[in-house]
Amino acid sequence: MGSSPLTGWLGDHLDLRWNPGESGGSQHQVLVISNRREVAVIPDGSPLLWSPEVAKATGQLLTLVGTLDQTTYYAIALDEVPKGARFEPLRPVLIGLQSTQFLPLSAAMQRLDFVREHQFCGQCGHPTVASATDRGLTCVQCNLSVYPRISPCVIVLITRGNEVLLARSPRFVDGMYSTLAGFVEAGESAEHACHREIFEEVGVAIHNLRYQGSQSWPFKHSLMLGYRAEWLSGDITVDGVEIVDAKWFSIDKLPKLPPNASISRGMIEAYRQERGLV
Ligand SMILES: [Zn+2]
Repeated sequence: MGSSPLTGWLGDHLDLRWNPGESGGSQHQVLVISNRREVAVIPDGSPLLWSPEVAKATGQLLTLVGTLDQTTYYAIALDEVPKGARFEPLRPVLIGLQSTQFLPLSAAMQRLDFVREHQFCGQCGHPTVASATDRGLTCVQCNLSVYPRISPCVIVLITRGNEVLLARSPRFVDGMYSTLAGFVEAGESAEHACHREIFEEVGVAIHNLRYQGSQSWPFKHSLMLGYRAEWLSGDITVDGVEIVDAKWFSIDKLPKLPPNASISRGMIEAYRQERGLV
C-alpha cells in the first residue's frame, strides 16, 4: 500500500522547513501561553505574537521553540493575560489553524510543559539547567540529562468493505465519533499495541495492519502513529467507560468527525477517497 497519501491534514509538512529546537531565523516571534496551558489569542482568534523585546519586558524567560522557514519562535509563560488579548484553551485554537501556525504553537506548548515539569532532577532532586550541548536539561548535581517527553500513541482506522468502525469517548463533543487510539506501553511494539488496544476497547480482532503516517499532538506530548487495519472477527463490545459507544458506519453516511487538523480525520478522508467517494 502506501499509495494513498493523506491529504488535507497536518501530518506531512513536506513543503515547510521546520527545525524544532533550532534558532537562526531572520525574524523572531514569541507565543504567549498561560501557566494553565492556554494560548493568548487576538480578537480574530489567531495566536498573539510578540517581538522578543516586548516579551522580555515582562521579566519572564523566553524558551526557544524552533524555526519555521525564516522565523524563529519562542514561547513565554505568563499568569496574566496581555492587554488586547484573551487566553483560550489550546485544543479549539490549535485545530482551527493552518500548518504554519499549528507547528510552532504545538511545539511551544510541549516545550513549556517540559521546562515546567523538569525544574528539578527526578534522580537526586537538585535543580536542572539548560544543557550546553543539546536541547535537554541537565542536573547541576548528578549530570542526569532529560529531554522533552514524547509518548507514542497508536490510532487505528478499522475497515470492513465500505464500512469503518468509529467510537465515542465520553470527553468528545456531542455526536462526534473517531478512530480508536491508545498509548503504546513500555515493552510492546506499536503493532502489538494496535491489536491489544482494539481488542480491549471494542472486542474485535484485526489484521492487515498498515502504517499510514504520524502526527505530533500536544495533548499531552503525544506522537500519534496512524494505522489502517481490516476487521477480522468479533462483534463490537464496549466497556462504557473509556468508550461509550462504537459502531460500523458506511463511508457515505458518516457521523460528526474530528477536525481536519487531526490524523484521524486524515485517515478517514483518505479511505473515502480510495473508495471513490470524494
Ligand atoms: Zn540529579
